[in-house]
Amino acid sequence: MQSRKRKSKPFVKLTLLAIIAALCAVGIFFMFSNNNKQEAKMKKEKPNTITTEASSYEGIEIVTDQAKSKKTPYTLQYPKTTNDAFNKEIANHVLKMKRTYLAELEKQNNTTEEDRPSLTLDVKTLPYKDRYFSFILTNTSYTGNGNEKTSIKTYVFDKETNKPITLQNMLNDNEDYLQLLAENVNQQLTNDEELKSLMLEDKVALITEPDWKNFERFSISDDALQFYYNEYEITASAATPTVSIPLNFVNPILLPDLQSPETLSKNILSPPIRELSPDGKYVALTFDDGPEKGVTDRVLDTLDKYNAKATFFLLGNRVQVNPELVKEELKRGHEIGNHSWSHPVLTNLTGEQVQKEVNDTVSVIEQAIGQKPTVFRPPYGAINDAVKSHIDVPVILWSIDTLDWKNRNASQLLPSVQNAMHNRAVILMHDIHPSTADGLDSVLAYLSGQGYEFVTISELEELKRRMAQQ
Ligand code: ZN
Repeated sequence: MQSRKRKSKPFVKLTLLAIIAALCAVGIFFMFSNNNKQEAKMKKEKPNTITTEASSYEGIEIVTDQAKSKKTPYTLQYPKTTNDAFNKEIANHVLKMKRTYLAELEKQNNTTEEDRPSLTLDVKTLPYKDRYFSFILTNTSYTGNGNEKTSIKTYVFDKETNKPITLQNMLNDNEDYLQLLAENVNQQLTNDEELKSLMLEDKVALITEPDWKNFERFSISDDALQFYYNEYEITASAATPTVSIPLNFVNPILLPDLQSPETLSKNILSPPIRELSPDGKYVALTFDDGPEKGVTDRVLDTLDKYNAKATFFLLGNRVQVNPELVKEELKRGHEIGNHSWSHPVLTNLTGEQVQKEVNDTVSVIEQAIGQKPTVFRPPYGAINDAVKSHIDVPVILWSIDTLDWKNRNASQLLPSVQNAMHNRAVILMHDIHPSTADGLDSVLAYLSGQGYEFVTISELEELKRRMAQQ
């Protein structure tokens, strides 16, 4: 009996185990199939819903694509315009983002109730002039295990042409302008106090190289041209830095339609004001009454040859016919001054007439270069308090008159300078006489040889102001 018992006991145990195992298997099967059914049910009950609503701006709608499923929830908002091709481009971006998120979740497949994934796409719309609309799309995804990602994409749409517009379009495909802008963005990033410790210098250098591809993530609004950077793109952090450049600072490099009605006398095209030393030898060359084709361009080339910066006092009625030359003056780093519209003796005019002479010239210069003149010189040096009251920039005369307007002789230009030369001189010449263009090289060669540095009026004025303070 005992031996029988002993024999039957393991048998009973095994049978019990088998039964338990079978029950478990059935249980698991049922749980599993139930799960599948639940999932299927959930998918049926909560598919993604896509709704389209009007935005605050006519012709622009906001699409919301939402899925409330527990496993793969998302809420995506993006703009819809009146351009089908453009809408398709945005929709493709959204689809790609969605796929990346779903693929990531598939890979992980271990999300729990407490560690729920999410994907949101948020759109911010910045209007400019009721015509240009910048869409800033911020994508934030969480795929569990602390894996959070944020990335930004921007689109700018021109409602009038019904087309997207790039920075390359806005700067009229001008590589010089791109270079200037790139330098500016680089400076701002490099000088960012808040991000200084986190900034990755190598990456900043790369991303601010003057390549159109580096400036695709941007927006334009009343206040600023703004550039956006992704996390870890230029910093060792999840911060998403932005660079904001005041719109009126970049005004002159934008297409006319995009320019801000407010202009500054100092902007991205202005020559930098170098800080001069009280011990240095400086001279400010000034050229009045231009610009003049065939003379101004030759003067500019001679100045370039000596890397000399000068100041041009322009007549409004000359700017009107030669705006390209004014652009060239500015581009080569010279200062632009106002010399009235038609060269009258301002002290003989009524206040109203003076104002017109001054303001019309400011306007025509602004039209030509997108910025105001920074200094004023009255014709014949005729000035009084009444005239001054109409001028809101420094009034500048001269200390050496070359009399080039009277002599009209290239060989007399150098002696006229030599005889009167002194440190911090302001030399008066006229870029309307071919003789001045002819004689200029010898003047520059002489002054260079004497150790003079050629500076703009504003640079020299700034030095004089500092010296007077001491
Ligand atoms: Zn003059």
